[in-house]
Amino acid sequence: MARQEDDFKKVISHAKEYGYVFKSSEIYDGLSAVYDYAQNGVELKKNIREYWWRAMVQLNDNIVGLDASIFMHPTTWKASGHVDAFNDPLIDNKDSKKRYRADVLVEDYVAKIEGKIDKEVAKAAKRFGEDFDKEQFVKTNQRVVEYQERATTILKRLGKSLENEDLADVKKLIEELEIACPMSGSKNWTDVKQFNLMFGTKLGASADSAMDLYLRPETAQGIFVNFLNVQKSSRMKIPFGIAQTGKAFRNEIVARQFIFRMREFEQMEMQFFIKPGTQKEWYEQWKEKRMSWHLSLGLGEENYRFHDHEKLAHYADAASDIEFRFPFGFKELEGVHSRTDFDLSKHQEFSGKKLQYFDNEENKNYVPYVIETSIGLDRMFLAIFSKALKEEVLENGSTRTVLKLPSVLAPTKAAVFPLVKKDGLPELAKEIIDDLKWDFNVLYDQKDAVGRRYRRQDANGTPFCITVDHQSLEDQTVTIRHRDTMEQQRVAIADLKAIIKKEVDMKSWLMKMK
Ligand code: ATP
Repeated sequence: MARQEDDFKKVISHAKEYGYVFKSSEIYDGLSAVYDYAQNGVELKKNIREYWWRAMVQLNDNIVGLDASIFMHPTTWKASGHVDAFNDPLIDNKDSKKRYRADVLVEDYVAKIEGKIDKEVAKAAKRFGEDFDKEQFVKTNQRVVEYQERATTILKRLGKSLENEDLADVKKLIEELEIACPMSGSKNWTDVKQFNLMFGTKLGASADSAMDLYLRPETAQGIFVNFLNVQKSSRMKIPFGIAQTGKAFRNEIVARQFIFRMREFEQMEMQFFIKPGTQKEWYEQWKEKRMSWHLSLGLGEENYRFHDHEKLAHYADAASDIEFRFPFGFKELEGVHSRTDFDLSKHQEFSGKKLQYFDNEENKNYVPYVIETSIGLDRMFLAIFSKALKEEVLENGSTRTVLKLPSVLAPTKAAVFPLVKKDGLPELAKEIIDDLKWDFNVLYDQKDAVGRRYRRQDANGTPFCITVDHQSLEDQTVTIRHRDTMEQQRVAIADLKAIIKKEVDMKSWLMKMK
């Protein structure tokens, strides 16, 4: 645990030091769970968004984009169920005065049990070596089976109590498990209460005529209310999807863990409209497609897993999370949900407008079913950034900090250095920049020794460093150094563009999707 916390602290301080993420309004001591993306962060975020948009909209001729506004008619949130049910169960510790999500306290407790299972598995794997059969071990080892049963029983009870709105039982569960406040160690808890996560605001100038509004807590509803407009104007036939990226706001009770859980964040969502009855196959397809998008970035298959929900939201008939191994353990990164016709039917009911599709083949009208894929852009940022940050011990015993971002997403693709600040080398380096900048984000750096400049760009995540030396003036060649291998090659200036493109081109990365 201590090691994990340490790693996570390094991620946060690296993000600040290298201009990726800052606390919001830091000069006023920041605002809890609100963050700003700095010069490098904004580029990485834009590249992730673009990578998602191309995979979803550009590469699928049956998916179109949308940019709906953050403010929506307030009835939207009545219809969607957010006014009545977008709640989290909260509990306060009376001694530390700290507030927690009751369900998260229990889930963290279960995560500890799961950690024990992982430990047993790791021990056994070491003991049995190559003969180790994990599946068999997990099924038959007495201790592991007991842990597993305990975890399942606790989660089942939590799920049931939440579903039945039995908050007293959630508190009882916390007491029975003897869960203590992580800050103070005290077990002196208040009752569990529901807390609505939507931020309210007002539209209009005078207090009496003003209309109560909400900042949207998800982008999805903007898609649902526009379903028929988009379908008609694009002449899309079912199955088809609508994708959008944009800000969402949630007054999260517990907002720790840096950009993992923020009060203002960005979502990338796609709603795929289908014929009722076909949801199972589309759900499976979208699970697979989204996973292959993740894997195309090369962060390691072992860092992803599906977590199929046992407890389903009221609108869903199947739901799965794509979980990622964050520095603090496996946590939800993206959700794939089979939402039935819940949303469109509700908007139809509340608006009194038909939201139906006429299916030519079937010769009938119906309210389409929906498969949703929903990923947090900031969470994706954290996933990539935290996995990319490495400390490597080099052959000579020294260490280097390197940010091995997938090069397609790196904020700067190449840095160009003159070996010395004279003899016409800066001029040639700037000429190279002037040529490359039309295709890539590049930067110029002439400060410090070249070795230091390499280290700086390694830590910045820049895939290539290009050094201009005296030989360059004679034969128009430069050295190009690769961030990950640190290999250096002498290449013609004329070839630079092609070399960089081959490595960072979005097409070749996207083609890794199955
Ligand atoms: P969690 O259980 O972590 O609160 P959720 O199940 O409420 O998440 P959804 O409503 O399904 O999340 O939202 C879809 C995605 O939006 C999530 O998978 C996550 O990546 C992202 N997301 C949700 N809430 C936040 C937040 N507060 N900060 C950053 N990203 C978020």
